[in-house]
Amino acid sequence: MMSTANQGRDPIAPITVDLARLPELLTALRLPTIARLWAQLAERSDREGWPAARFLATLLELELAERYQRRIQRHLQEAELPVGKSLTTFDFASVPTVNMSQINALAAGGSWLDKGANILAFGPPGVGKSHLSAALGRALVEKGYRVLYTRTTDLVQRLQAARRDLLLESLMDKLDKYDLLILDDISYVRKDQAETSVLFELISARYERRSLFITANKPFGQWDEIFPDKAMTVAAIDRLVHHAVILEINTESYRRKTAVSRAPGSSSTSKTKKSTQDDSDE
Ligand code: ADP
Ligand code: MG
Repeated sequence: MMSTANQGRDPIAPITVDLARLPELLTALRLPTIARLWAQLAERSDREGWPAARFLATLLELELAERYQRRIQRHLQEAELPVGKSLTTFDFASVPTVNMSQINALAAGGSWLDKGANILAFGPPGVGKSHLSAALGRALVEKGYRVLYTRTTDLVQRLQAARRDLLLESLMDKLDKYDLLILDDISYVRKDQAETSVLFELISARYERRSLFITANKPFGQWDEIFPDKAMTVAAIDRLVHHAVILEINTESYRRKTAVSRAPGSSSTSKTKKSTQDDSDE
């Protein structure tokens, strides 16, 4: 327990200070940066004759800056983003339908997240939908937002298990903490009454409050295969598109294009290859 020796005293009356207790005090107050840096800074402050206020303010600023960095690190970990997918490694030139300045504006966060608007990215396998969603997610975490990236099928399974264990509400509350939920590959969700109605519930719960970034390789016309019935499909799409940015990425598979241009003697064939939906690697 903390000592309360100084409690209730006139704060400006002379107080007994035990310098040896400083590490303990800083730990109790959860100030690891100050604990690490105070001695070094105190020396400098003494040497340079800083006013006490400057010494104190400097330490507090350092603690706050590191606390912010630690929080971002924590949020990066909890976001479960695929590694190596950032906006700087995304080649916008190869995706003419995606506007770099629009994506950069979205990556700044702000009003679209405040009003729970969505991003829906459509396109065949390999065109960069997952990369783009993860890159945007990473940029937002670095701005201080909370993001969770998940394959839609994984999340649907988690929701389903939670419902079985009567923990759906608490999982929904947990998911509600994320400013952006990235649901990758919604088209892979199996059409199963119990499973996909939890997905619909999630979409409804976030409607106009919390944002979703959904990627799909099937157009809305084929979403009947995702939700249990027509009415639920229509209702889900209706909520998703009400406030949404829709990205259509109908270029050639980036994976195949880079594979083809790496192949010997095929430097120009990549441009002539037609994009099809038969990529086998997804
Ligand atoms: P999708 O999710 O549309 O199937 P991915 O995002 O998984 O496609 O992209 C397939 C691979 O190609 C990934 O390794 C990704 O990083 C890379 N890739 C796709 N598009 C681009 C791009 N425009 N710039 C850089 N890399 C890309
Ligand atoms: Mg993908």
